[in-house]
Amino acid sequence: MTSEAPLYKNHVMLLSQNFFIKDNQAELLLYAHKYDFDILFFNEMRDFVAAVQNDQGHSLFVIDLDALHNMQSDLLESRKTLMLGELLQRLPSEQSYVYLQTVRQGGRFLLQQRLVDSNCLAYAEKPIANDVLVDKLFNLFVQRKRGDLVRLICLGEETGLDEAALLERRVELIRHADAQTLHLRVKELQPDIVLISDTEYARTEAIVRVLKKNIEADPVREITLLQRQPDAALARRALASGFDGIVPMADADLLTEQLVNRANKIRVNKDLIGKDRATGLLNKVGLQKKAQELIRQAAREERPLAFGVVDIDKFKTINDTWGHYFGDIVIKRLSLTLAPHIGERDLLSRFGGEEFVVVFWDCTLEQGWQRLDAMRQSFCAIPFEVKPGDLRHFSFSGGVAAYPEYKSENELFLRADAMLYEAKEGGRNQIRVAPAAQRQGAHR
Ligand code: GH3
Ligand code: MG
Ligand code: MG
Repeated sequence: MTSEAPLYKNHVMLLSQNFFIKDNQAELLLYAHKYDFDILFFNEMRDFVAAVQNDQGHSLFVIDLDALHNMQSDLLESRKTLMLGELLQRLPSEQSYVYLQTVRQGGRFLLQQRLVDSNCLAYAEKPIANDVLVDKLFNLFVQRKRGDLVRLICLGEETGLDEAALLERRVELIRHADAQTLHLRVKELQPDIVLISDTEYARTEAIVRVLKKNIEADPVREITLLQRQPDAALARRALASGFDGIVPMADADLLTEQLVNRANKIRVNKDLIGKDRATGLLNKVGLQKKAQELIRQAAREERPLAFGVVDIDKFKTINDTWGHYFGDIVIKRLSLTLAPHIGERDLLSRFGGEEFVVVFWDCTLEQGWQRLDAMRQSFCAIPFEVKPGDLRHFSFSGGVAAYPEYKSENELFLRADAMLYEAKEGGRNQIRVAPAAQRQGAHR
């Protein structure tokens, strides 16, 4: 495929043995491209080190330790096998590495210890299936991205919490003073963690039940007791009445660390549930939750929202003509094209196979049409090289609906989807905001 921007921004540089590469190269690449990264294969230490040194920060470095057995040491210019120590020494120390080791190597604790202490980001044991390896590497890429904020609401005058340190680590702290209105604040802000001090709990024990027994309560939300002084009876009552866990009120640093660890786990779970693996965009579940939140914000701040649905034109033909795998690349390419058009408070979701949803914050119907049409033009401009020398362009159609005209996420979706249908009926490669009967402007 040719275009001005490289297709894959992220790369895995893999130092490996020739035969491992030959057996696996095509399949590894196939999986990697699905997850939107590319793999560059190296069998020379010198080239690999140069690639590490020239990296712009978008790569992961993987070393297959079997490469050691085959590789000649070009440092010593001898026939000696490149030994582990020498290999590790020659790797640029400002980077970290993923090591692929055999189970036999893994059984030798001293070897393993040496690895994990040598700029080791992670290690994997062979044999490992290509799809599993690619999935794990993808997770490492994801972990490097700035994670979504995890929201923590704290009841009471908690002085031991370091708000700035938490925010630095992507945890947003909100304080709430009144136990009797906590459930309302939780309903409004939908926090991921609710922290209640032991004194507040002792004063109003029903509070946790009020939070938990709401039929609409988020089952993933964690309610945690912050315990100032050990009190086994109180702790037992707390756990029995619905608290998920107890953290001791240690010094601020320790508390921050504990809360950040919890938040990181929650973030991973939320990503697994609410994001599409192949594109990293929100999936249907994630979108619904975020869109509802955005609609509540729009109501509070009295702002309009534009809700757009997009579907690639004649995608079945694309699949049938150039293969399902090529179809997947088109989907990925579309997600990469849409992403730069999305603002900080907008939403972008891969809603289904080749269907995407965008929600534009503080945007009218007419502005929504313009922004979606700009996306349509960007996508149309991408040349896809389906065969050497054979360039094709594809298109999508879209429909837009706006809040407050349509109030709920479901109504907005249904209306935008109906407009998408109009766009398809009207000849595709266009965006519609009103049915044909009501059309005023030429483009609508
Ligand atoms: P239209 O212009 O009317 O949208 O025509 P279309 O051929 O695109 O029709 P439709 O949207 O109904 O077809 C979507 C097809 O996309 C059906 C399905 O086989 C295929 N598809 C769905 N998800 C994926 C995916 O993840 N990868 C690939 N390659 N194909 C997918
Ligand atoms: Mg479709
Ligand atoms: Mg389609």
